[in-house]
Amino acid sequence: AANLSLLLQTFSFGDKRHLLLVQDVTDLQKADAMRRDFVANVSHEMRTPITVLMGFLETMQSIDLDKSQRDQYCELMMSQAQRMKSLVEDLLTLANLEANTLPAPMQAIKLEAVMALLKNDAEALSQGHHTFNFDLESPKNLMGDEREILSAFSNLVSNAVRYTPDVGSVSAKWSVNAEGQGDFSVTDTGPGIASEHLSRLTERFYRVDRSRSRDTGGTGLGLAIVKHIANRHQAQLIIESTPGIGSTFTLRFPKERIAS
Ligand code: ADP
Repeated sequence: AANLSLLLQTFSFGDKRHLLLVQDVTDLQKADAMRRDFVANVSHEMRTPITVLMGFLETMQSIDLDKSQRDQYCELMMSQAQRMKSLVEDLLTLANLEANTLPAPMQAIKLEAVMALLKNDAEALSQGHHTFNFDLESPKNLMGDEREILSAFSNLVSNAVRYTPDVGSVSAKWSVNAEGQGDFSVTDTGPGIASEHLSRLTERFYRVDRSRSRDTGGTGLGLAIVKHIANRHQAQLIIESTPGIGSTFTLRFPKERIAS
């Protein structure tokens, strides 16, 4: 094993006995490197909006702005503050999900209500430019944690809206397949994602296009949150995408979590 890291420790006892302890610390080192990367990423993500905010504040201190300029500055500062708020909220969500190792509870979730909420939010986010198609092909309920399910589904829908140009369309569908598994899928006619990125999309702060994601208001944590929620529900996240055509994100729930 080329990448194996061993920790060697010797212990000597008074009666001439020695103990050599050999411990494989590869995983520990990896976890430590990931934690360091994560802290560096969070610091960077927080510092950017703080720097921008301070720049605006300094300008406001040094120049007398008229009312319309001041309004414009306030709006720009509010959007930076909003970005920090979303980041902190997503970090807390992720920390809570990671701390909870139990499977999600089995509460019946009515998908009609969830779909209606998702559609409302999507329309508000798009400000009336996209075409929406939200379908309920199965009346079966999903058993899980309603708040988490809503958060996972709305992350997928908001990504579809945010990455799809104004003229595009976004569809969301709930169906139960022949094997009895429940599929929630979101399809968009956005830019699509090249195959080399697909396996990394659920990593925290992984983005295909850094600047674009920030412009669209993303924290870089959405799909990491979706993946955790999927795991807690024994669901699979399936991503299919064709560059230039669009993407489909599906959460596939086991039949044990589907009820009439
Ligand atoms: P972000 O906050 O950056 O959107 P996510 O974790 O939700 O973070 O998504 C990770 C990355 O996956 C995004 O930065 C984007 O590059 C890509 N992505 C996610 N959803 C889509 C989509 N529907 N169409 C195209 N790219 C997407």
